[in-house]
Amino acid sequence: MPKHTCHWPGCEKDVPPAMWGCKAHWFKLPKHLRAEIWRTYVPGQEITKTPSTAYLTAARDVQDWIRAQSEPTL
Ligand SMILES: [Zn+2]
Repeated sequence: MPKHTCHWPGCEKDVPPAMWGCKAHWFKLPKHLRAEIWRTYVPGQEITKTPSTAYLTAARDVQDWIRAQSEPTL
């Protein structure tokens, strides 16, 4: 089994395959993004490795959001 780690950039924590990331980082995400991940998540996608386009879009939105948070405020 390949290791499945938190999707938060730089976080190496092991998480169950069905989870997006570790608890600490998951709950840092705004509610609407978490809802979007759940809405588009298809059980078993981590086994088939074929997440829906909607899920990939949601996952990308999350990464965009994280990047926006970590940008230095000038
Ligand atoms: Zn994490």
